Amino acid sequence: EQKITVIGGGLAGCEATWQLIRRGCRVRLFEMRPRSYSPAHHSDNLAELVCSNSLRSDEGHSAVGLLKKEMSRLDSLIMKTAYETRVPAGKALAVNRELFAKKITATLHEHPNVEIIREEVTELPPPASAPIILATGPLTSSSLAESLAGFTGKKRLAFYDAIAPIVYAESLDMTIIYSKSRYSDGPGDYLNCPMDKAAYLLFIDELAKAEYTPLKEFEDVKYFEGCLPVEVIRSRGEDTLRFGPMKPVGLADPNTGKEPYAVVQLRKENREGTTYNMVGFQTKLTYPEQKRIFRLIPGMENAEFARLGSIHRNTFVTSPELLDPTLQFKKRSDLLLAGQLSGVEGYVESAAMGLLAGINGARISMGKAPVVPPAETALGALVAHLTGSDPKKFQPSNVNFGLFPPWEKKIRKKFRGQERATRSERAMDLWLEQYGVEN
Ligand code: FAD
Repeated sequence: EQKITVIGGGLAGCEATWQLIRRGCRVRLFEMRPRSYSPAHHSDNLAELVCSNSLRSDEGHSAVGLLKKEMSRLDSLIMKTAYETRVPAGKALAVNRELFAKKITATLHEHPNVEIIREEVTELPPPASAPIILATGPLTSSSLAESLAGFTGKKRLAFYDAIAPIVYAESLDMTIIYSKSRYSDGPGDYLNCPMDKAAYLLFIDELAKAEYTPLKEFEDVKYFEGCLPVEVIRSRGEDTLRFGPMKPVGLADPNTGKEPYAVVQLRKENREGTTYNMVGFQTKLTYPEQKRIFRLIPGMENAEFARLGSIHRNTFVTSPELLDPTLQFKKRSDLLLAGQLSGVEGYVESAAMGLLAGINGARISMGKAPVVPPAETALGALVAHLTGSDPKKFQPSNVNFGLFPPWEKKIRKKFRGQERATRSERAMDLWLEQYGVEN
């Protein structure tokens, strides 16, 4: 029996390895540390948490809490170790990062089915009869990234993400906001939040004073020209936003019949139109500042955000064009992609995609059909984002309820988390039973 190759001993790679070995597979796991380090990693442990020690909310009714529950059900090594090394952090699951990484390293190191090779993989391995799982993360080494770009096509591998905030449609004030595409008559694909001069001046004034997260040393500013943070555009002059992403031309407000002084445009984020993306509002503002300042926009006073904006150094592929929902490349079914490289964002999400790649790698090597988690589950919602999004506008996402199937009937906000959890559990029961996913 041939060994399955896993490249990258981070969160996704370790979880994938665990899922493979607990199904009886043998694994060769490549990790470049300590021979070579990404700019964010500092230790030689596998599964190093590069920044915060929090795996976010542990409440079963939050989207990330639900994802954790599903992963625990599938015997996730990352989840099990996180609970074993937990430190108090209110409703969040935070860990002792040293212990967490050490335990995972020891578990895999001591397992007879794992061979850990401390080497950088500089090229995508050629097609093989046993599956290969690629999980080298947001800071994949440059030679491997180049080789991957050769395989995907340069345009389908990004080195930065530029995430604009996403709002829930139902939290918008539609007596102020209007639907219209530039220069078209009548409603269009975009929603527009109109600003008069006073509202605009207040907005850009607050933007100029806002707190933002500084770039890390390795996040070279020159890369940002194509997707400048909104606060940087603001810093270039009082009218720069009004002549850029907030341009009102061709967007007359049906309530007044006139073009506003400036507009903020919102574009449908999903087919159902339950969430909207703030066009051009990628930002390094802190989360509290984003909420405070974006709620100054007319019609967004009570906006609820499915996610807030950010910009990071991040390597990821245009998954909607390249991947099947089993995480196999369409072009190469022996090659599976996992972790942040696949276009998810966050520790738990990265590990979750490692978990699915591990399950499917094992199934493929055993001659079973690979599986796709149901859409009602948090795992399925992430896969739907990776493979069902519009490739032209694809940006990484963490798990949030905006990625789940829309409600068929209205459910009160208070009960929605509970309802999602119940549905996901039911769907998971059926899935596990139907395909024997647990083994
Ligand atoms: P990683 O955990 O980075 O694992 C990839 C592994 O592959 C690494 O061990 C690396 O050394 C190895 N590797 C790379 N190239 C090669 C190669 N060619 N050959 C062999 N091995 C290789 N998410 C959060 O939820 N909270 C945070 O606070 C957070 N902070 C972040 C801060 C930074 C600076 C970055 C870059 C990301 C952050 N993330 C955070 C996002 C993301 O969740 C983490 O990066 C997460 O570790 C991704 O998991 P992964 O398994 O995909 O990659």
